Amino acid sequence: MTKNIMLIDTLNRESFEKQLTRIENSPADLMMNGIDAVLTHEGPVLSCDAHLAITKSEARYRHLINRIAALIVELTPTGEILYTNEAITLITGFSTEELIFCNWLDLLLPLQESTHLNLLPQQFLENGELNAFKTRILTGDGSRKIISWNSAHVLGTNELVERIIYFGIDVTEQVLAEQELSIAAIAFESQEGMMVADANGLILRVNNAFVTITGYSAEEVIGKHTRTLQSGHHNVDFYAEMWRIITSTSMWFGEIWNRRKNGESYTSYQSITAVKDTNGIVSHYVSTLTDITASHLAAEEIKNLAFYDPLTHLPNRRLLIDRLKQALISSTRTDLEGAVLFIDLDYFKALNDTHGHAIGDLLLKQVAQRLTSCVRECDTVSRLSGDEYVVVLVNLNKNSVVAAAQTESIGRKILAALTRPYQLDKHHYHCTASIGATLFNVTHSDTEELLQQADIAMYEGKRTGRNKLCFFDQQMQDTISARVALENELHLAIKRGQFQLYYQIQVDSSGCPLGAEALIRWLHPEHGLVSPQQFIPLAEEKGLILLIGQWVLETACAQLKAWQQECNTSNLTLSVNVSAHQFRQANFVNQVLATINRYAINPGLLKLELTESIFLSEINDTVIVMDTLRKIGIRFSLDDFGTGYSCLQYLKQLPFDQLKIDRSFVRDITANSSDKTIVSTIIAMAHSLELDVIAEGVETEEQQQILLEKGCVYYQGYLFGKPLPIEQFNVLLLKT
Ligand code: C2E
Ligand code: MG
Ligand code: MG
Repeated sequence: MTKNIMLIDTLNRESFEKQLTRIENSPADLMMNGIDAVLTHEGPVLSCDAHLAITKSEARYRHLINRIAALIVELTPTGEILYTNEAITLITGFSTEELIFCNWLDLLLPLQESTHLNLLPQQFLENGELNAFKTRILTGDGSRKIISWNSAHVLGTNELVERIIYFGIDVTEQVLAEQELSIAAIAFESQEGMMVADANGLILRVNNAFVTITGYSAEEVIGKHTRTLQSGHHNVDFYAEMWRIITSTSMWFGEIWNRRKNGESYTSYQSITAVKDTNGIVSHYVSTLTDITASHLAAEEIKNLAFYDPLTHLPNRRLLIDRLKQALISSTRTDLEGAVLFIDLDYFKALNDTHGHAIGDLLLKQVAQRLTSCVRECDTVSRLSGDEYVVVLVNLNKNSVVAAAQTESIGRKILAALTRPYQLDKHHYHCTASIGATLFNVTHSDTEELLQQADIAMYEGKRTGRNKLCFFDQQMQDTISARVALENELHLAIKRGQFQLYYQIQVDSSGCPLGAEALIRWLHPEHGLVSPQQFIPLAEEKGLILLIGQWVLETACAQLKAWQQECNTSNLTLSVNVSAHQFRQANFVNQVLATINRYAINPGLLKLELTESIFLSEINDTVIVMDTLRKIGIRFSLDDFGTGYSCLQYLKQLPFDQLKIDRSFVRDITANSSDKTIVSTIIAMAHSLELDVIAEGVETEEQQQILLEKGCVYYQGYLFGKPLPIEQFNVLLLKT
């Protein structure tokens, strides 16, 4: 049977395609068009039956590969899509027709956004056969799928790559799951401690931060109950409440005390989350813990700094005010009285100046301890600043007289405790304090006012001799107000020439004048003559004493010069009071020398009176200053002897010429046998130290007689003459 054979030149593809178009492509069509076989340019003649069989097989094959989930893409070496199976539509949403002859590389994206996009396609094609190479692929809805590719090259007759076939599997979900897992793994190894326990509380897994915080290795805790970590700080109720909350809300968070492996307790901020299965049954507990011990300590430290004095650890002013407010409220409720004691150390500044702040700090700490030991738990001891302490006493008696007596008794106890000797490093130290007290009850509400009252009373204590307890009253308040006014005017007194020197005669046992003591007076335009006892302590406190002291020295030297020029007064000595503050000035020696030179006076006639407060200065420095001035003839007298420190050790070392018996001993020498004994002891001691003795405040002949009997031959006092302005003093001199 004659077969219609169609010759097709496979090299001339165009004519073939036209032909195919005309006869509509398929072998079945060929047959219907009377063509029984197809002859290719190189190949054998295929019968249309055979061709049909191949076509069927190919259809089966295409059906098959369109059913498999994997992507199959056939490409030219330059990336044009020749064929894709239908899986591409399922995965990308693009139809196979849409994709034919598109460039395959336009559909692909690198796996990571950050990867260089241009490089990838070339690599993708140039890489040879691929194995599990992942890319993302563009989809019709704009989303991205992740595909894992394998590729195979189909070689042509010339051994060159003719086609590339890619097999791809959509691994989007798998990759995302892996990513989730790695994120979870990273999250698990975060800075927070993490612990996973089973439903029975047995630890299954812990992270490195947990190991760092607790000190337990993973091996040591896995399989153990979470109770292992408990510190014992919390009671059963705490844990019962915690589990009640977890059971009802599936989670708990809060601060909890746990114990590290080394036994140390620590505070952690902990969360516990119950993980439930699909049936709502708890399968695991996941717990996170952050060690907040350091921040707790920091918070504690901040609280300490805010409310406590860092040196003594006593409450500071802020906490004191708070406690005082509480005390006032409590007093209103209970009707019981309370008291505020304002305590200030005497001469603390001198200690600081001479021995340094470190030694001063030691004293402040010891004072804090002593104060605390003097009061009850319910009372408050606080440090306001420097050497100022405030004690608040609560729950005293309802009756204010009894309450005042109770306050006084505690005040005395405090004074006694504070005057006990101190050991400050290598230094033995004695110290006194002045205490001001004020009572409070239902009628008071202003804390600042109470503090001010106690402060005023304390100043009164200082003013009237120190080492004492003074109660506040209104008169004191008025005194303080006057004092403030005085302070303001004192600044102007030198400029306005309101100071004047008075002279009080000093005589020997035959009444012969030896000289005088220069005593300053303030001629106030309104108040008249103001006593130095009123303004000298104020001037010392405000630092004005330096200017005043220099003025006194100048005036005294000018007077000595004047006396020197008269033959009947040329041998008179002049005693000048020098405050410790003035004496401690670095240029004190130079000031004195310059003044002496300026007035060209005989230094042997100038006597400087120092008080025992000088003993608080560094002894060696004091000796140097005194020695330097003594070398040129200046003499030194120790004023008010017996009222201050009377440290015999120092007295021996310091080059004094004279002791001045304080007038308080002289006053009662006739009536008080102990004063008589003190005076005779002072005189004997002065003689044994080869010092002159002069008694001040001698008012009666009887006093003079006793002093004389005891061996004191120099006197100063109203018996011989009051302090007088120079004109009157010169008149007095003429009479004696
Ligand atoms: P002081 O140096 O002990 O002076 C003696 C004080 O006793 C003087 O008081 C004097 O008037 C007073 N007095 C003297 N004899 C008698 C007496 O027989 N009976 C009584 N009741 N009192 C007598 P004044 O002048 O009030 O001075 C008080 C203190 O003020 C002085 O005590 C001295 O410590 C200080 N002072 C006075 N002038 C100066 C000065 O120029 N510089 C310094 N730094 N202090 C001075
Ligand atoms: Mg004096
Ligand atoms: Mg005196």
